[in-house]
Amino acid sequence: SNRIMLGPLVAAIDQGTSSTRFLVFNAKTAELLSHHQVEIKQSFPKEGWVEEDPKEILQSVYECMDRTCEKLTQLNIDISNIKAIGVTNQRETTLVWDKETGEPLYNAIVWLDLRTQSTVERLISKTPGRNKNHLKHKTGLPISTYFSAVKLRWLLDNVDEVAEAVVTHRAMFGTVDSWLIWCLTGGKSGGVHCTDVTNASRTMLFNIHTLDWDPELCKYFDIPMEILPKVRSSSEIYGLMVIDVSHCLYKKTSGSLTGIPISGCLGDQSAALVGQMCFQDGQAKNTYGTGCFLLRNTGAKPVMSDHGLLTTVAYKLGRDKPACYALEGSVAIAGAVVRWLKDNLGIIQTSTELEKLAASVGTSYGCYFVPAFSGLYAPYWEPSARGIICGLTQFTNRSHLAFAALEAVCFQTREILDAMNQDSGIPLTQLQVDGGMTSNRLLMQLQADILCIPVVKPSMPETTALGAAMAAGAAEGVSVWSLRPEDLSEVTSEKFEPQINPEGTRRFSKRRSSMPLTTVAVSLNMGE
Ligand code: ADP
Repeated sequence: SNRIMLGPLVAAIDQGTSSTRFLVFNAKTAELLSHHQVEIKQSFPKEGWVEEDPKEILQSVYECMDRTCEKLTQLNIDISNIKAIGVTNQRETTLVWDKETGEPLYNAIVWLDLRTQSTVERLISKTPGRNKNHLKHKTGLPISTYFSAVKLRWLLDNVDEVAEAVVTHRAMFGTVDSWLIWCLTGGKSGGVHCTDVTNASRTMLFNIHTLDWDPELCKYFDIPMEILPKVRSSSEIYGLMVIDVSHCLYKKTSGSLTGIPISGCLGDQSAALVGQMCFQDGQAKNTYGTGCFLLRNTGAKPVMSDHGLLTTVAYKLGRDKPACYALEGSVAIAGAVVRWLKDNLGIIQTSTELEKLAASVGTSYGCYFVPAFSGLYAPYWEPSARGIICGLTQFTNRSHLAFAALEAVCFQTREILDAMNQDSGIPLTQLQVDGGMTSNRLLMQLQADILCIPVVKPSMPETTALGAAMAAGAAEGVSVWSLRPEDLSEVTSEKFEPQINPEGTRRFSKRRSSMPLTTVAVSLNMGE
């Protein structure tokens, strides 16, 4: 047949909070050749609870792989050119499964979930001076509902099957990366139980200085260390793909992926940092997905924030390579507010409709929206905060609400950017962005206006997957991808400049930052 000669290809599994994707890139040009995406169901069994089905997550990966392989075949591209597969994933989301049956023992508890709020409050009340930063010197993180350790603690305390499996030495804990890699390398018949340093650094059980599980932290949360995955670098061969025919509903063409090394693993925000080529100290990116995450590379040194940011492992691209660290501002709700307007209020049918609706008025008309659905993350770390919509008049309509929702995402970013600038002392001069929400051009323009710096968006939007593919392709023993930014000179981008109004002042002054409003959201719920 007329197969197209392309050279080596590298694939990535991108398992996000709202969807799963499988993507295939040309390792020479970083060109995206084909991909498929499947939405993931989220369940909200109780107020504040957010769960996903681990088996659905796995099946969605099989389905995406299968459909992408079909598309490649239709394009006359030989699947055997795929030399490596990288995994990138929603971080912190917590799973426990039985290593003998391969069955999950409970749903995945999603990072946004608030069921551990009382546990967190109890833990903080026991620390000297009620200090939520009690474990920060080791973990870089405040004690919060966000991280895996408290979710795992909840599973051990509340799910009999989990507690039993620990006693009988059958329990395996993992974040989504571990679950997928274990399943895709053979599962109960020899799957590899591992994670990478970036995912591990979000559990609160991991010492970001020694780059290993910390016995003291495990003792603090009373977590048995034998259920933890082995921690590896973000770029090395973890194992080879085994498509388990008995488990996957989709096994037509993806079977030909069997034998390909899985050799890259990065939490989604780290992968986006890599995909945006932020390899230099000081470089930063902001990803607008379900939540919104601004990461700034701080080089080989972990920098502790004085302004409510997290310190996290950015990446470690090879067993013998040094770890790089990042300061991170995490916002729990960004794209999720769009999903809420769609699913809960029904004021839009699709997320793309939001832009038209908001653009039709071009102002929130004094309406403000603080979508603190899951408490507030950076820089507040206040699990008891709840959302508010205020400034309503008889005149306010759904278009204004849509506009206020977009502004809310921008204001939250403004807050974490300000914190980041204060921590580093060197203000960012532009912001590199990516993620599902960045297809919204109105949002991008508003963001530039509210930050008063240019917002730069790569033309190829799948930055997270690209980062995972780069890590996989660069791994020792694969080596089909260089990580030199100069080799990707073809990467193009679009720039949104802050707009200046005719009087020569910025459309948005400092006073319009959301700072007072988010503070209201916090204090309202603390009964102040
Ligand atoms: P994740 O990685 O968290 O799964 P994605 O990067 O795939 O997220 O982005 C999906 C999110 O972006 C969804 O929450 C969706 O509501 C939002 N989104 C997608 N398109 C638009 C749009 N045109 N305008 C606003 N929000 C959007």
